[in-house]
Amino acid sequence: MTKVLLRHDQIREMTGGKEIEFSLLKEDKVIWKIRFNSVSSNPMESLMNPHLSQYGKPCFDTGTSGYVCPVCNLDIDEYGMCGCGAGSG
Ligand SMILES: [Zn+2]
Repeated sequence: MTKVLLRHDQIREMTGGKEIEFSLLKEDKVIWKIRFNSVSSNPMESLMNPHLSQYGKPCFDTGTSGYVCPVCNLDIDEYGMCGCGAGSG
């Protein structure tokens, strides 16, 4: 059986968030690397949940603006985003 392992390499403090690095290892050889920025300090959750890394909280915790987009008719959230993107203008 081939052993594949996801390794959290490092987390660095940056202005406005953290820079997080992961490596994917196959039989102890690095076959894939990813580096991304996150406002969350939880590396694994940030990797699995881009919404958390971008906004600092999961989508289900994101509040509403109280407005509905006239184009897609969906709620515009606290960051000014809706389903189609027109509401963010
Ligand atoms: Zn919309």
